[in-house]
Amino acid sequence: MELSSRITNITGGGSDGWDVFYRARRMIAAGTQVTELTIGEHEITTSPAILQAMDASARGGHTGYAMVPGTDALRQAVAARIAARTGVPTDMDNILITPGGQAGLFAAHIATCNQGDTALYCDPYYTTYPGTLRAVGAIPRAIITSPDTGFQPQYDAIAAVAGDAVSLLINTPNNPTGAVYGAQTLDGIARACQDHDLWLISDEVYDTQVWDGAHISPRGLAGMVDRTLVVGSMSKSHAMTGSRVGWVCGPHDVIGHMIDLATHTTYGVAGFVQDAAAFALAQGTDAEEAVAAPFRRRRALTLEVLRGQNTVRAVPAQGAMYVMLDIRSTGLDGEGFANALLDAEQIAVMPGESFGQAAAGHVRVAMTIDDDAYVGALQKLVNFAKSLATQ
Ligand code: PMP
Repeated sequence: MELSSRITNITGGGSDGWDVFYRARRMIAAGTQVTELTIGEHEITTSPAILQAMDASARGGHTGYAMVPGTDALRQAVAARIAARTGVPTDMDNILITPGGQAGLFAAHIATCNQGDTALYCDPYYTTYPGTLRAVGAIPRAIITSPDTGFQPQYDAIAAVAGDAVSLLINTPNNPTGAVYGAQTLDGIARACQDHDLWLISDEVYDTQVWDGAHISPRGLAGMVDRTLVVGSMSKSHAMTGSRVGWVCGPHDVIGHMIDLATHTTYGVAGFVQDAAAFALAQGTDAEEAVAAPFRRRRALTLEVLRGQNTVRAVPAQGAMYVMLDIRSTGLDGEGFANALLDAEQIAVMPGESFGQAAAGHVRVAMTIDDDAYVGALQKLVNFAKSLATQ
């Protein structure tokens, strides 16, 4: 029996630079103490107050099928939040609640790409992007961004590959680079989308984690509201990664079709999870800032540790829970450095190559352990890089 090429092609084959991650996991399983700075999982769990709301909802009976598009209360809360943050009029019919941002990314591309269409994304990229595009039957095409421009995609680079493409996927604040796209970058993106008639899929799951500058949602830019689908999530903003609750915000007709898709795929998100998410959003921005604060602090600590040396350089990390470090002065590529660091210091970081070709010669460090341990590990990384650079 043959499987569909659509499903067998999702990963595109190859290790994608995740070998060091799996090696670290095997070392931990074998009893070696490894400092894990690989994946983007908060060290805290979902707050007791949110869990209490979830428990009360479930015990109160919200355990049956929930409304497929999302509960009115949560759709309204998300719409109000987006309207307040962007100034763009938004109502609940602009919102589809999804099982996390990842399901939103998939649904947004199903909605915009036909089989065989070209879908653009920016390199470096969040790991699932090319696979998500292949999973909907689209052909992924990368826009290579450069460390010289802070990994911000420029109009010319987009226009050069836009040709027959139908969509562009962007992510700000960015995983893995920590870049927060500035007004000029986003104007260029908006212009490229209009000049080349592209849908814009804007992954904003880190929109509460901005350390420098401000998050700008491109849906609010002139001419963009009818061609932009924004993907959001409770995962990062409220430490609810396991609850699987996020959304897509877009034009009414697009959301209408995406509700049909949800009816035939996910059939919605658990009602008690949605009630907990609505409760969490009602706690306001202080609760979001409390979840973001450790990363804000550690990003400042990162800059302190890196001060006064030139061997390891941080790409200006303006947001999200990661820093991308340029280790090219060691003479190693990201994968070589990450493997050597794991062997020498039992510290696991992600090679830049795991996130595409543009981040070669870099490693991504997740700021997801307590401050002292984080500073200690980063200092060891810098010392190790220095020892390589002077060999
Ligand atoms: N987009 C980006 C850039 C991410 O880093 C992640 C998770 N790491 C997601 C989307 C998906 O998040 P979730 O499905 O948990 O909302």
